Amino acid sequence: MPHTLITINGHLEDLHRSSQRVADPTAPAVRALVDDMIAVMRAERGIGLAAPQVNVHQRIVVFDIGPDGRTARTPLVCINPVITTASRALVMTEEGCLSIPGEFVPVVRSERVSVRYYDTQGQRHTIAADDLLAVAFQHEIDHLDGILMTDRYAQQSSLRAQFHEVDDTATTHRIG
Ligand SMILES: [Zn+2]
Repeated sequence: MPHTLITINGHLEDLHRSSQRVADPTAPAVRALVDDMIAVMRAERGIGLAAPQVNVHQRIVVFDIGPDGRTARTPLVCINPVITTASRALVMTEEGCLSIPGEFVPVVRSERVSVRYYDTQGQRHTIAADDLLAVAFQHEIDHLDGILMTDRYAQQSSLRAQFHEVDDTATTHRIG
């Protein structure tokens, strides 16, 4: 299967742009992009990837992580994902990002989220995610809104301090 030469694009001005909704999730071009994104995500050993990371400003994210937090055999493909509910319970993770190589920063996020999205057949789904998948959803959907983990980190100093009062543990994950 031929793959186009899409690669991780690390230019901050591109990463800070918002992405557009996908008009037709069933379009063959979407399927081709998704296949390329999965290949890049696996080559880079990320557990997720958002289209703007390969400089395509469309609301598409892919994951290689199952609900149990382990690597999935079948990648999860989410088009036009929207977080519909987010828990007040928070979790702090040392996040890594394929667009910011070598950097890890602690980011506080909701422990659980519900996400509505479309698949490449145009079917609508709602998924309840917790733990690492919930964090990955928030990290990748942030990419669609032009927000990086380093932007979250910069906004969260008081939130981090509150978080440290109740829980000073943080796991480290290279997310995507
Ligand atoms: Zn990222």
